[in-house]
Amino acid sequence: MKIDVISIFPEYLSPLNLSLLGKAQSAGLVDIQVHNLRDYAIGVHGSVDDTPYGGGAGMVMSPEVWAKALDSLMVEDTDLIILTPAGKQFTQPVAQEFSSRSHLIFACGRYEGIDDRIRQYYSQPEFQDRNIRVHEYSIGDYVLGGGEVASMVMIEAITRLIPGVLGNPESLSEESHNSEGYLEYPNYTKPAQWRGIDVPEILLSGNHAAIAKWRAEQAQLRAEKNR
Ligand code: SAM
Repeated sequence: MKIDVISIFPEYLSPLNLSLLGKAQSAGLVDIQVHNLRDYAIGVHGSVDDTPYGGGAGMVMSPEVWAKALDSLMVEDTDLIILTPAGKQFTQPVAQEFSSRSHLIFACGRYEGIDDRIRQYYSQPEFQDRNIRVHEYSIGDYVLGGGEVASMVMIEAITRLIPGVLGNPESLSEESHNSEGYLEYPNYTKPAQWRGIDVPEILLSGNHAAIAKWRAEQAQLRAEKNR
């Protein structure tokens, strides 16, 4: 999978080279490129934003700057993901869907966001004919300062579902959100007693059927309590 991330703060994205994602890149499973939007800035001052039509606070990111960056990266079969708190909610099923795509572009907004004509322009039939799909996603109902952290959240959730990225793919099978409403049971490791709190005895029994039943009950209880 090829992933392009466009931001005015490319350094923000450096954690993408760590841990699982770093290894996935070294193994050739994912190719992540971060681009500085300012490289596509226009005008003598090299600005990437301007005042909003209709008035109001803040600045809006200019469409031509974004289009110059996006035109240079757009290829057949691309999903353009515009990060915005006003987007659809990003969830595990969406991560699953994107994990089988070949090319994702993440557009990280700043200020009041990106001129809406970027969404409109790349949604036109000529782009649809090239299998270019435009999405607006939010990672939750709160407002961040920029799309960088949101794009990292999405990239991490999506790429760990790509076959080969996780060392043990079985980790995925009983995870929270693996099926609708499912939250994983609580986990324990050694020692069996820690600061006066015991590991539930059933987990020490070696009785796999009983453990599976206990875990299913605990998962259910957790879902009822937390959701
Ligand atoms: N004026 C916008 C609004 O009220 O919807 C908020 C803009 S926010 C300060 C700047 C940028 O942060 C957005 O363009 C988006 O890229 C990113 N952002 C903020 N919150 C986000 C969220 N919950 N999910 C995804 N991206 C978010």
